[in-house]
Amino acid sequence: MSSWETKKMGRFTLRFRPFTLEMRHVFTVASFSRTTTPVVLTELEYDGIVGYGEASMPPYLGESQESVTKFLSQIDLSHFDSPFQTAEILTYIDQIAEKNTAAKAAVDIALHDLLGKIMNQPFYKIWGLNPDLIPPTSYTIGIDTEEMIRKKVEEAEQFKILKVKLGLDTDKMIIDTIRSVTDVPLCADVNQGWKNKEEALEMAHWLHERNVVFLEQPMPKEMIDENAWLTAQSPIPTIADEGCQRLVDVPKLQGVYTGINIKLMKCTGMREAKQMAELARSLDMKVMLGCMTETSCAISAAAQLAPLVDWADLDGALLIGNDIYDGMTVQEGKCILPDRPGIGILKK
Ligand code: MG
Repeated sequence: MSSWETKKMGRFTLRFRPFTLEMRHVFTVASFSRTTTPVVLTELEYDGIVGYGEASMPPYLGESQESVTKFLSQIDLSHFDSPFQTAEILTYIDQIAEKNTAAKAAVDIALHDLLGKIMNQPFYKIWGLNPDLIPPTSYTIGIDTEEMIRKKVEEAEQFKILKVKLGLDTDKMIIDTIRSVTDVPLCADVNQGWKNKEEALEMAHWLHERNVVFLEQPMPKEMIDENAWLTAQSPIPTIADEGCQRLVDVPKLQGVYTGINIKLMKCTGMREAKQMAELARSLDMKVMLGCMTETSCAISAAAQLAPLVDWADLDGALLIGNDIYDGMTVQEGKCILPDRPGIGILKK
């Protein structure tokens, strides 16, 4: 295990170290397969109180342990007196360099955890959110053989909704296989895998008849007119994932998709994620809250805002075999937030 790199900056200390998550199953989506996910763990300390954060970098997003540690090395918080200068601190972090959204999220999450610990309250309470409103989380079934899909669906018995990865030529086999095992509602994530709008619409109807409740990123994000056409015709909502990164994207997507999938690693963390959820709501768009493969750190951070969303997809920590934190748990498919301050996690 790599050791912590430590940066002392006035009353703040930032620590970070790379860590590799091991997936419990080979994970396949329309564009790639993998068995590990690189992350960088962070700790932000102020007056002896420590907040935890995490950056997760699935390879297709263009960040790496090297880019994240390089970004974190550039941070200097010595000109801030207090972690309660949250807006100023996060604006400063955002302008250090473009993109680097997972690296920025690693700081944002640690800062929110730290603030919650100083105030001695879980962050969802600080935000005034009711945890009873959190929708059941979906559990993701990657693209696989018929036999493996059946096995994974049987393992996922506690979940009230399953998320299915589609987008190759096995879509109907996958859905038929799942339907031979369970009737639970499904959501389908195509990961930009469909390239033709008429075929996409035909599939939307076929999936609707099999109780698939929404379609995530059906076609490439660049196909804006085609996605808008599909959204207007589709019997089920469409959700932008690859097509929606940050707050600035949300208004442009109104009419192109029914809703957006917010992920902390795409949008720089909890602060902007909450702004996106509220903006989407005000534009009458649906809101989904997703994740990468992450430890219970980033998952528990995202879960603080889950009472605000229509659909939660917070299974990232369940897909790995070496989670190093205790945090949000899933019981009978429901997300249970720990009643601990900040994002509510403990080191195992
Ligand atoms: Mg997705």
